[in-house]
Amino acid sequence: MNHRGILIVLSGFSGAGKGTLVKALMDQYDNYALSISATTRQPREGEEDGKAYFFKKVEEFQQMIDEGAFIEYAKYVQNYYGTPRAYVEEMLEAGKDVILEIEIQGALKVKEKYPDALFLFVTTPDADTLKNRLTGRGTETEEVIASRLARAGEEAEGIGSYDYLIINDDLDEAVREAHEIIQGEHFRVSRKTAFIEVMKEDLKRFSKGE
Ligand code: 5GP
Repeated sequence: MNHRGILIVLSGFSGAGKGTLVKALMDQYDNYALSISATTRQPREGEEDGKAYFFKKVEEFQQMIDEGAFIEYAKYVQNYYGTPRAYVEEMLEAGKDVILEIEIQGALKVKEKYPDALFLFVTTPDADTLKNRLTGRGTETEEVIASRLARAGEEAEGIGSYDYLIINDDLDEAVREAHEIIQGEHFRVSRKTAFIEVMKEDLKRFSKGE
């Protein structure tokens, strides 16, 4: 029986190491598919179109919104980001666990449409580590770093909407924790309805005296 995969929404403060965590999950385990978002942000050095993101002009992004091509989209620090629907649906149908690495406003919209999605939030152990990681990355201007830190304060208010918190102190440990949480989720009774129906049907043989 081919089970539908789990939709995993992974959010976290900018600089908490979500990207590295997701990359490690993809590298170490087979059953994950990573959704590639569309964005109007400029590519950072080394970011390839179609790999990091699908980089779009604002008009192109707007057209995708009009066509209903997104599961969700949101504005984050002056740019738009959105999750294209087709790939996600296709992979879930194929039984893959699909990871969306998205910010919190988008995550809340996904929750409305996919109530059985699994919500993970990634943080650093403390606020100073967050600032140091953002500064150390060297990819953003001071102004952008300040906006992202301010945004982190707002996002902290929404953590309660998530199912699990991953404190990314040691990367390997965080990767293992994320994987274990997801694996555990597969055993939830509400995800086993097809199995339970077959079992119930099968057990009827005994009540008929077979
Ligand atoms: P960055 O510019 O650092 O690549 O991403 C900025 C933020 O946008 C991150 O928190 C990232 O998770 C989020 N993000 C990336 N793709 C999407 C998306 O498709 N939808 C939403 N809502 N947020 C996204």
